[in-house]
Amino acid sequence: MPLIANTPVPRPGILEIAPYVGGRSKSEPGQRVIKLSSNESGIGPSPKAMEAYAAAAQALHRYPDGGAGELRQAIARRFDVPADRIVCGAGSDEIIYLLTKAYAGPGDEVLFSEHGFLVYAISAHAVGATPVKAPETELKADVDALLAAVTPATKLVYLANPNNPTGTYLAQAEVARLHAGLPAHVVLVLDAAYAEFVGAEDYEAGFKLVAAAQNVVMMRTFSKLYGLAALRLGWAYCPAGIADVLNRLRGPFNVSTAAQVAGVAALGDEAFLEEARRHNDAWRAWLTGRLTQLGLKVTPSVANFLLVRFPDEPGRTAADADNYLTGRGILLRRVEAYGLPQYLRISVGRGDECEAAAAAIADFLRGDHG
Ligand SMILES: *Cc1c(COP(=O)(O)O)cnc(C)c1O
Repeated sequence: MPLIANTPVPRPGILEIAPYVGGRSKSEPGQRVIKLSSNESGIGPSPKAMEAYAAAAQALHRYPDGGAGELRQAIARRFDVPADRIVCGAGSDEIIYLLTKAYAGPGDEVLFSEHGFLVYAISAHAVGATPVKAPETELKADVDALLAAVTPATKLVYLANPNNPTGTYLAQAEVARLHAGLPAHVVLVLDAAYAEFVGAEDYEAGFKLVAAAQNVVMMRTFSKLYGLAALRLGWAYCPAGIADVLNRLRGPFNVSTAAQVAGVAALGDEAFLEEARRHNDAWRAWLTGRLTQLGLKVTPSVANFLLVRFPDEPGRTAADADNYLTGRGILLRRVEAYGLPQYLRISVGRGDECEAAAAAIADFLRGDHG
C-alpha cells in the first residue's frame, strides 16, 4: 500500500524553493525612504508611457490582445527582428518559468553560474529539476566551468549577461564559445535584462546567436532601463520552434493591456531612453569613484547597480552596514542568497539618492553611528 498523506502534498521540488525575497521597500514608519535595492530606473518611467497607461483605464473591461501584436511589432521594428519570433511575458521572470517548464523536469539539470540570478534555481525546483551551479572566476561567469558542468541531463543553461548581482559581463566571443560547446538539444538562455546599460564594444546582447541557431533565446525586460517594473513586462527573441513552444504554454492573456500600451510608448520615447542611459553612466561612475575613495572594493559594473565588498571586521561588515543604512531609511540589497554575504548591492538611483547613500556609507565607515 502506498503511504497516503493526510494533507495535500506539492510535487517534488516545490518545498525546496527558498521563497524569493525582493529588495526591501519599507523602513521605519513615516521615514523618507531611499530605495536602491531592486535595480529600478534612476529616473522613473517615460512620461509617454505614463500617459499611455492612464489612457488604458478607459478600457479595463476588455481583455488584452492575447498575442500582444502591436507591442511585438514595435519591438520588431525597433530591433530589426521578425515579430513572430518575439514572445512577451509578465516580466522576463514569467519567461524564465515558461522556458524551464517547457524544457526541464524531474531528473533534468538546469545550469547557471555560481552567482547567477536566483529565479533560475527557483524555476528549476518548481518543475522538479535539479539546479546546478558552475563556479565563477573573479565574480564573472566562466565559460570553461559552465561547459565542464554540462552532463547528459543538462537541458537548459541560463546566462545573465550582464549578471545580477555582480554587474560583470561576458564578451560576445565568450558567449559564442559557450554556445559552440553545448550540445544542440540544450537551450542556451541569454538573459539580457541590463543590455541597454552596457557600453562595451565587445558586448552583444544575443541577437546574432538567436538569428543563427535553433537553441538560443535572448530575454529582455522593460523593468530596468524603461522604468516599468510595476507593469511586469518582458520579452524573448526565440528561434521559431521555441517561440511556438512558449506560445502554446503561456496563458492566453499573460500580458496586461496596460503593460502592452505603456511598453509601446516607452519604446518610442528615444530621447527619454537616451537620458536614462546618460544618467546611469554618469551616476554609476560617480558612485564607483566615491565608494572606492571610501576604501570599499567595488566590482566594475556595466549595469545600473554596483556590487560592493565590505570589511570583515565586526561592526563594519555588510550586514552591519545594511542595518545602519536601513535605520537611516536607505535600502540596499543584501546578497547572501547569492552566496555573497560580504557584499551589498546598490542600484544607481536619482543623483540626490546616490549622494545621500554615499554620505551615509561614509558616516558608517567613520564609525559615526553612536
Ligand atoms: C531584473 C532582472 C530580470 C527582469 O525581471 P522582470 O521579471 O522582467 O522584472 C531578469 N533577469 C535578471 C538577471 C534581472 O536582474
